[in-house]
This record gives sequence, structure tokens and C-alpha cells, in this order.
Amino acid sequence: MAVNSGTAALHCIVRGLGLGAGDEVITTPFSFVASANCLLYEQVKPIFVDVEEETFGIDPKLVEAAIGPATKALLPVHVFGQCCQMDALMEIADRHGLPVIEDACEATLARHHGQMAGTIGKASAFGFYPNKQMTTGEGGMILTDDEALYRLCRSLRNQGRSEDGQWLSHERLGFNYRIHELTAALGVVQTEKLPALVAERQRLALAYQERLRLIAGIRLPETAEGNTHSWFVYPIRVEASRRNELISQLAAHGIQSKAYFYPCIHLQQFYRKKFGFEEGMFPVAERLSKEILILPFFPGLKEEQMDRVARVLSKLI
Ligand SMILES: *Cc1c(COP(=O)(O)O)cnc(C)c1O
Repeated sequence: MAVNSGTAALHCIVRGLGLGAGDEVITTPFSFVASANCLLYEQVKPIFVDVEEETFGIDPKLVEAAIGPATKALLPVHVFGQCCQMDALMEIADRHGLPVIEDACEATLARHHGQMAGTIGKASAFGFYPNKQMTTGEGGMILTDDEALYRLCRSLRNQGRSEDGQWLSHERLGFNYRIHELTAALGVVQTEKLPALVAERQRLALAYQERLRLIAGIRLPETAEGNTHSWFVYPIRVEASRRNELISQLAAHGIQSKAYFYPCIHLQQFYRKKFGFEEGMFPVAERLSKEILILPFFPGLKEEQMDRVARVLSKLI
């Protein structure tokens, strides 16, 4: 079901599952802020669990200890185009009877042991902002095979209207999360191009790998066993003490790069204030947020441009 953003997709799912005040959802601090904000919209408390080094996703080894009587769902995020360790997470969720909401906004067409991101849990959210693998300008999508949840989300998207309802008959409190028809038309064409766009990103990731693997001081992204990447960005890791300086130095050479995700969600000002989060609570996520450097990465990026990025990086490091 199409909606007008990835955030709207997440919000509809959280509301659709009936989560609210007093409930807790286990999620990751190492993500784009929307994956936790969707909980705050409904007064659900995010319980952050640290991530693991291979996929940068929520660490299954830490999830079990975070589950308590108020836990109502798991919300893993497939960051940078790679699935979390979903087998382990689903096993824990099933054992505790918890629904899994997948934030697949950065992982369209990624796979985990053959299963596509967003088809593993109870419901999932996709995003089609221009930086994603496919875009509709602004846009998003919900996937679920739960018929009742689907019908409820359809109503929430459309001002709480009932299915056969009149224009001015509203069954529940809803939102205007409808996707525009012109935007949806873009999306239809983009889905046709999507396999080629993802293949092109795969080619670029390999080309970067070839050029960067011999530079000491750069740690390249890994793909966990059983995973197929759908590259969203190309995240290299450098010495934390050098990262920000490198961003400025690269910029001076006309090369744009970025720190992702810095700061982590729990260290955003309003999360600190609301929940009392402090530095040091999720050490792996915090370290990654200080080491990761995102290089220029988009379909159409040329070999010579990647050569130049590698040459400049090598000289600087
Ligand atoms: C892009 C993104 C979203 C949603 O983004 P919108 O801008 O609302 O479409 C949610 N979660 C993650 C991890 C994202 O990268």
C-alpha cells in the first residue's frame, strides 16, 4: 500500500498494531531518526539496543535481555542496504510472540537467506525519497500479509474513512498520508527500473572496493553471510579522530562526503532531554557514528570520479 513517505508508512504500522502509551518497542539507535520518531508519535517508549559490527543492525545477542512485560514489538532497521540478522531476530520474536516491524526504507531489494527485506516480519516500511534506491520524490510503501492490518492502514492513510464510506464519514482518527497519483505514476516507472538501479549500485560498490581495499586506514563495508546487499550508500570506516577532518579535506578537493548517522538517535537533543540518554550507553553505535564516512555514491558515478576519490583519500590518509 502506497503512502506519501517512509515515515508515514512507519507511523501507520505503529498505530495499526494498536501500540500506544505504556508500551515499549525494541529498536536501534543507529538509524535515521524517523525509525524511532514513529514510536514517539504514539507515546510508545523506544527501548534502544546496541548494534553489531557486521551489518550495523540491531544485535540479536542483546535483544533478549531488553524484552520486558511492556515490550510489544521489535523494530529492526536494515541500514545502508543490508538486512539485519533477521533469522536470529525472528527466532527471538516468535518465541516471545512479538510482531516484527521491518524498517526497509534503505534496503529495497536487499535479501537475507533469499528472503527479500520487508517480507520477513509482520509489516514493513519502504521510503522513496530521492536518496533511496528508487524514488517518487516523496513517497513510501507498507508491505504486510495481515489482511486486517492492511485494511486498517488503508483507513488511517485516508483520514480514517471506512472502506465503503461516504466522503465525510470518518470511522476513526486518521491522517492524510495518501500518495498523489502523479507521484504514484513515477513510482510505477521506477519499480520497472529498480533492478537495473540496484545492479548499477552493486557495480559501483565493487568498483570502490577494488580501488580502496589496499589503502591502509580504511575499513570497507562487509556483507554478512546469507545477505545480499542492495547498496544504499557506500560506508567506509576511518579512524574516529580523523573522520571530521577528512570530510573537510575531501570537500576542499571538491569531493562531498558525510558522517552517517551522527549523532545516533539517542544522542539527538530532544531524545536526551525526554529520556535522559547519555553518551556511552550504546558504545558500538556511537563508535560507528564517529568512524563512518559516506562517499559519493549514485547511479551515473564515473570510473574516473571513483579513481579520483580513491587517489585523494589515499593521499590524505
Ligand atoms: C529514509 C528513511 C525513512 C523514511 O524517510 P521519509 O523521508 O519519510 O520517506 C525511515 N527510516 C529510514 C532508516 C530511512 O533511511
